[in-house]
Amino acid sequence: MREPIARCLAELSAADVADRCSDAAVAVLPIGAVEQHGPHLPLSTDLLVADELCRRVVDARGEELDLWLLPSLAYSKSNEHAWAPGTFWLSSTTMLHLLDDLARSLRLTPIRKLAVVNGHGGNSSLLDVACRDIRVHHGLLTFLLHTVLPPDQGGPASAHELGLGIHGGEDETTLVLHLAPELVDMRRAERIVPEWLTTYRHIGIGGPVRFGWSSDDLSSTGVIGDPSQASPEKGAALFGGMVDTLGQQLAEVARFEFEDKTGDDAERG
Ligand SMILES: [Zn+2]
Repeated sequence: MREPIARCLAELSAADVADRCSDAAVAVLPIGAVEQHGPHLPLSTDLLVADELCRRVVDARGEELDLWLLPSLAYSKSNEHAWAPGTFWLSSTTMLHLLDDLARSLRLTPIRKLAVVNGHGGNSSLLDVACRDIRVHHGLLTFLLHTVLPPDQGGPASAHELGLGIHGGEDETTLVLHLAPELVDMRRAERIVPEWLTTYRHIGIGGPVRFGWSSDDLSSTGVIGDPSQASPEKGAALFGGMVDTLGQQLAEVARFEFEDKTGDDAERG
């Protein structure tokens, strides 16, 4: 049983929401996934990391930054892993509708900022769209943050993974070894890196020319990366850095406002 933390929105009463939540508060929505992560990691890897990271940061900085943690969204857009039994995924349209519904519900609280903390790389493009749609449809201030950016989206890349450590590789494996070691089977942690992709100059995952892919196009096991070098020590260091980074990012979210445009209008007169 996990230690309870303060500032879980769903643990308030409806009356508390009106009393305790202000228009300066930030709702933090962790987004996980339940999807294949290779033979050595649990389906819940992204959910575990997003959920634990957000809990830790809201626990540490919730009072200071006026953060409220929403229950994690377990399922998301994982159709690139739909071939594997155990993957549970939402379609793009379902997920856009679901986020729109959550935003409409949040709009009935005093909270005006929504910080989506994405734990699954396959959601990123869709969440960009959702953040804009929610801004336009509901007037909320929306922010897209990531537990850790995958290498194909500008995140750190380890050399032995050739920038292709995007799924079940070293980073994710170290994180689960740190957070829930009993769920990792390192005897089955095998390097699978689609090195043939490096023969293309323009076409690439994260390159100037992208391509649609399913993880079984790129890997025989579902892993894209090298989990064999993972360790709990590396995981503790990585997770500690993620807690610091997300705290700093949410501090900016907490003070962010669009600049008042009335001055410009007056000048243009
Ligand atoms: Zn993952």
